[in-house]
Amino acid sequence: MAEYQAPLKDMQFVLKHVVGLDQVNTLPGWEEVTDDVVDAILEEASKLAGEILSPINASGDRTGAKWKDGAVTMPAGFRDAYWQYVRAGWGNILSPAEFGGQGLPHLLATPVEEMWGSANLAFKLCPMLTQGAIEAIHQVGSPELQKRFLPKMVSGEWTGTMNLTEPQAGSDLSLVRTKATPQADGTYRLKGQKIFITYGEHDYTDNIVHLVLARIDGAPEGVKGISLFVVPKFIPKADGTPGERNDVKCASIEHKLGIHASPTAVMVYGDKDGAVGYLVGEEHRGLEYMFIMMNAARLSVGLEGVAVAERAYQRALAWSRERVQGKPVGGAQDAKASPQPRSPAPIVQHPDVKRMLLTMKSVTEAMRALAYWASAILDRARKHPDDAERRRSQALVDLLIPVVKGWSTENGIDVASLGIQVHGGMGFIEETGAAQHLRDARITTIYEGTTGIQANDLVGRKVGREQGRTAFALMAEMEKTVAANGGHNVHVKAIVDRFSNALPRLRETTQWIVETFPTNPAAVAAGSVYYLKLMGITLGGWMMARSAMIAAAQLDAGQGDAAFLRGKLLTARFYADHILPQTLSLSASAMRGAESVLAVEDALL
Ligand SMILES: Cc1cc2nc3c(=O)[nH]c(=O)nc-3n(C[C@H](O)[C@H](O)[C@H](O)COP(=O)(O)OP(=O)(O)OC[C@H]3O[C@@H](n4cnc5c(N)ncnc54)[C@H](O)[C@@H]3O)c2cc1C
Repeated sequence: MAEYQAPLKDMQFVLKHVVGLDQVNTLPGWEEVTDDVVDAILEEASKLAGEILSPINASGDRTGAKWKDGAVTMPAGFRDAYWQYVRAGWGNILSPAEFGGQGLPHLLATPVEEMWGSANLAFKLCPMLTQGAIEAIHQVGSPELQKRFLPKMVSGEWTGTMNLTEPQAGSDLSLVRTKATPQADGTYRLKGQKIFITYGEHDYTDNIVHLVLARIDGAPEGVKGISLFVVPKFIPKADGTPGERNDVKCASIEHKLGIHASPTAVMVYGDKDGAVGYLVGEEHRGLEYMFIMMNAARLSVGLEGVAVAERAYQRALAWSRERVQGKPVGGAQDAKASPQPRSPAPIVQHPDVKRMLLTMKSVTEAMRALAYWASAILDRARKHPDDAERRRSQALVDLLIPVVKGWSTENGIDVASLGIQVHGGMGFIEETGAAQHLRDARITTIYEGTTGIQANDLVGRKVGREQGRTAFALMAEMEKTVAANGGHNVHVKAIVDRFSNALPRLRETTQWIVETFPTNPAAVAAGSVYYLKLMGITLGGWMMARSAMIAAAQLDAGQGDAAFLRGKLLTARFYADHILPQTLSLSASAMRGAESVLAVEDALL
């Protein structure tokens, strides 16, 4: 099939009409991010994604990254692609201007990042982790540390990693054991092992800057005793060039189900005298710093769900137009596509195949709008001049992030799986590429906090602990969309009707969580993933309802691309008819499913 083509029309529609680009570009410093600038940036990014990154996606999957004697060789084309990406300035669009970055809004970086993820998920991870490391050093590192590392990281000459996980410390980072011993010169010596470190070693650049969680000698047990360190592969000399090799090495890389071109490294610190590390911020506050960055990182991974879903949809749609098989029940509905309705037709004409494609399309569009909206709120939380508005936006984005991360990545897997179904047997055969999307998507619900961890965060910190304040305020906003419906469009009316039925389920379940959490948190935890999906589907429904209203209004006014707008309206109608009703079962399972979970003793499993 043809390479990935960025869904520019949908991206532009969402940015400009649904999630408020016009509000983000009123924030200080972003006045120049006009519609035209956004169009030009998206257009350029789509070329790199479609022409450079997409063509090496399948070959990278087949070859994979290779380890030998501590060094990692990337698959053919990846190093070149990385340098094209860097030279074109894509590596620094979010980075601080004072260190050579462009400092653009998250809202604009989000569709760009979606493109990288759709075109080549394994490639996208390296810049994503570098960005996380830059943010950490920028937000909490000392001025010396920033001066020493940020210019090279922002320019893309050095990449960054996140070293949290250890064999005994995965979801529970309080169990981190890597040790850091203070030295007379103010540095630390680190000893320990980290596993699953994405791009822990590679051949793109001549230095890699590892951010490492470790425990300073004598630190308290648990989360309070963890500190954050910068540990470079080569210790920078005074002139900024890489100097002496540090005592850190890549012991091996993993053989995995997917993202084969992304090296997942076992990192050994301090085989000899200890790896030289520089403390980031204050002692014992490492985990807290990690949480500061977690929002952006989790949003990025949530976006991977959107990205893979989009790619899987494009591939399935192309296949369904080519594959001829069977006669559509009741004849072809689209006479132009098949002038002889009783002869075998492309499978896209079968109602069930259409249902699968519409499921893929509608869920992807709903996830996209929700992820972009969360990015817009993140921008407001960081830049809005009004203190109260910043705080309100922060609470809202805190609520949205676990939903975007958990719901979008779970959907990414489901959509990629449906993509295989649309292909029939050929979907199971690697040659078509459909299988790679499912294999690649499978990690996204695991790293950066599993879906279970996102759901715990949602029901505990984000809803239970604040008695649902932000969640109920958000529902009041959604209610306004229902109330605003006065349009005459038959599809909009149906969408609003379905949405009006779904919203009370979210409200009722949220109320149940608020009441149950203080006395029976285990019951809430047992159904927390159902609640996360309930919130995701409802928020997605809200985004689609708003999109449908805007599309209908533009159609009425004779504005915009009529075919795109009609497609949007009908896709939103499908979502309302087929996806929103799932809120009924999710709400029931969330509120009434705990007993059968908690009654079963471990021994009975
Ligand atoms: C390809 C890949 C790349 C990765 N990249 C990085 C990286 O760059 N840096 C890094 O530091 N780490 C990385 N990781 C590690 C990743 O973040 C962890 O695998 C993830 O956080 C889960 O931890 P775990 O594997 O130990 O699973 P566990 O924590 O053992 O979880 C196993 C299961 O138990 C559930 N569970 C655990 N605790 C709870 C709880 N409290 N409540 C409910 N359910 C729970 C989980 O949801 C999961 O279903 C990567 C992993 C992989 C596979």
